Amino acid sequence: MAWYTGDVFYDTALLAGFAYVLIIALAAKFGQAAYGRFGGRAPGIKFEPRLGWMLMELPAPLVFIIIFFQGQNSDQLVPLIFLGIWIIHYSNRGFINPLLMRVHKGSKASFNISVVIFGWIATAAHGFFSADFIANHAKHLTPEWLTDPRFIVGIIIYAIGFMLNVHSDAVVRNLRSKVPNPNEPRYKVPYGGGYRFVSSPSYLGEMLSWLGFAIFTWSLAGVFILLVTMANLVPRALATHRWYQKQFEDYPQNRKALIPYLI
Ligand code: NDP
Repeated sequence: MAWYTGDVFYDTALLAGFAYVLIIALAAKFGQAAYGRFGGRAPGIKFEPRLGWMLMELPAPLVFIIIFFQGQNSDQLVPLIFLGIWIIHYSNRGFINPLLMRVHKGSKASFNISVVIFGWIATAAHGFFSADFIANHAKHLTPEWLTDPRFIVGIIIYAIGFMLNVHSDAVVRNLRSKVPNPNEPRYKVPYGGGYRFVSSPSYLGEMLSWLGFAIFTWSLAGVFILLVTMANLVPRALATHRWYQKQFEDYPQNRKALIPYLI
């Protein structure tokens, strides 16, 4: 069905992608993805978290770069700027953040193989939808796009989300000492930055980033990854908030789960 770009394969795959979003949203009713604090009891092979994260995210940069450089617009200014943003984003998500993670000495491997495999569907599809749209199908990504309000507003929202995400991940990282210490508790209450308002500011930052991306690329590829991220992270943020409240008696009472002052 050619209902969006006119390319039958792309448009059909995008429809399938939106169906996959529905599956993720429904799956969240049965529990959270089995990694980190929710990874302990699920059966199956488990990876050490740093390896799990890198494996899961790998298709996003790989597929994007392969598809992008086959595209007819891959030498154009705006697509090249988007390539740069993609590389910065996935250098952080796929390599820098996992490599900087401090794994608690006493904890067992907790990143379930099911998360990696289901994650691959999303990260590969995300890389394909975005790169093929940007380098082949988009007609609006000429140099004039850089002064379009949708580009400017989108890039500002993206930058705010990205900074909030990186800062929040750093706050959590610094809760553990650099040299693994089996005597320190695995989890502590994070304070400062976005944690003054919500329990999962990194998730809020992640969602803002993809909202900004959907606006500045003005694409359904962007809407796809925004919906995937929300389907994963809204229920996980709510579960994380409940987990913190149960785990720590002195947990800040005015802190919300995901949206300051609201949810
Ligand atoms: P994790 O639950 O793996 O947490 C990241 C690291 O912080 C782990 O080493 C974890 O340890 C540690 N940690 C978490 N909470 C605490 C705490 N209270 N005290 C001490 N250490 C802690 O990953 P997240 O779910 O937080 O996600 C990581 C990043 O990936 C975020 O920026 C998130 O936005 C992004 N992300 C994006 C998704 C998307 O759909 N685009 C999906 C999921 C995440 P341990 O492993 O021992 O729990």
